[in-house]
Amino acid sequence: MPEAEIHLKVSLPSDNLDVNQIVILVQEAVEQIGPLLMNWYLEASQDRVLDDVLGGKWGHANQAEARWACPECHSQKGFKRRGSRSRVLRKSSLGRVSFKLRQVTCSHCGKTFSPFLSWFGMRRYQVSTTEFQAKAVRVACQTSYARCASHLSELAHVQVSATAVHAWAQAKGEQVVLDVEQADGQPVLLDSTKVRATDKKTGCSLNLGLSVRGRCWRNGRPQLKVYPVCFGVNEPWAETARPLARVKPARILFDRHDAFVDWLNDTFPDVPKQRCRWHLVTQLYRALWRDGLRKAQADVWMGKLGKIMYHPDCPVQHSRRDLRALIAALCQQNLTHGAYYLAAAEPYAFTYREHPDGMFFDERTAEPHAISSTSPIERQIREINRRTDIGARWSVPGVRNLVRLDLTRRFDPGQWNTLWGLPQKAPSDFVTGKLMIMRVGMQPTANVKTT
Ligand SMILES: [Zn+2]
Repeated sequence: MPEAEIHLKVSLPSDNLDVNQIVILVQEAVEQIGPLLMNWYLEASQDRVLDDVLGGKWGHANQAEARWACPECHSQKGFKRRGSRSRVLRKSSLGRVSFKLRQVTCSHCGKTFSPFLSWFGMRRYQVSTTEFQAKAVRVACQTSYARCASHLSELAHVQVSATAVHAWAQAKGEQVVLDVEQADGQPVLLDSTKVRATDKKTGCSLNLGLSVRGRCWRNGRPQLKVYPVCFGVNEPWAETARPLARVKPARILFDRHDAFVDWLNDTFPDVPKQRCRWHLVTQLYRALWRDGLRKAQADVWMGKLGKIMYHPDCPVQHSRRDLRALIAALCQQNLTHGAYYLAAAEPYAFTYREHPDGMFFDERTAEPHAISSTSPIERQIREINRRTDIGARWSVPGVRNLVRLDLTRRFDPGQWNTLWGLPQKAPSDFVTGKLMIMRVGMQPTANVKTT
């Protein structure tokens, strides 16, 4: 491990500085130390490797086999030092870092090259570190690309364009893989939202499927552990959900009454299916509105439905009977849209009571039971809406890649780290070196001995 001692000489103004001014001053000093330390480490570790392989600079020791091969003739032995060339990492969390890249010449074929680019995990024309790209995209997952660029400039003091952050997010978003196996044997929740993409005025649909992997307690509240298992933008639900056909979810919660329900029945004939209980009641309004009812009139029917749906003491056969009676009453009043809406949902209305096994919490009660609403996925959909409703119009791949990447950031840290080539463990676990501040004092300077 190369060792360095830094002798820091700082002259500070003797005026009376307030705490803010001191922070700004020291911040400037710190920003200069980072790139220097990085430059030193990059060059010192190259020199150490060259010494190990080629022997000391002026010695004639026998050469060891190198840990690299000549890119031309693939020889692993017989290299000479051949100066260095300058490299700059313009964007890193430490700011702009310049350093010398050591070169060698192959004595078999005469090729001059640097073995150290790949040594440091850098690509040929790479001018920013992926750790910095990951930080920037982490911000861009939560706010617009333009604001992300201005935050980075204000807070991290790194100038980067919105276009660059966009390109990083798109390239990585393209590589995200959702692990559908996470849905096997687990409840799966499906929901959609609208996003302003394509030429259509109303935008297009964004579909998301989450599996519920268990629950944990956080801040004294139960919280569900979720994982994204399917995702699609501007495509039919059957397309988005197709990967799910490879696994067998424990149950499926959904919130639709269209052809997709037929697909669900065909694909998962034995899997219990639950229509979201909460939406079942609130969305009745839309059907009754089409039947010509006003809000006050619809409220009466919605109240009746609510009483049936939220009556856990009533045996489930009675609840079902009451629901069928309500559908018949709607028919009698010629409220056909309302009746059709409820009739389509009826088979899936009480699954959570017919198959009550489960350990999930509803928003309203603290008792564990089978999951009966899509509220955990709604929360995630709201997060997505918050990022995508920015007034601008998206391209379909643009919004698809960003949201996929954001889902990975939030629910799959392992994949997130792999995408950016980041270590899976905290730095203190893998770096064996130590950085120690030996002593900080006003005087004397580091070169003067004290008694
Ligand atoms: Zn060679």
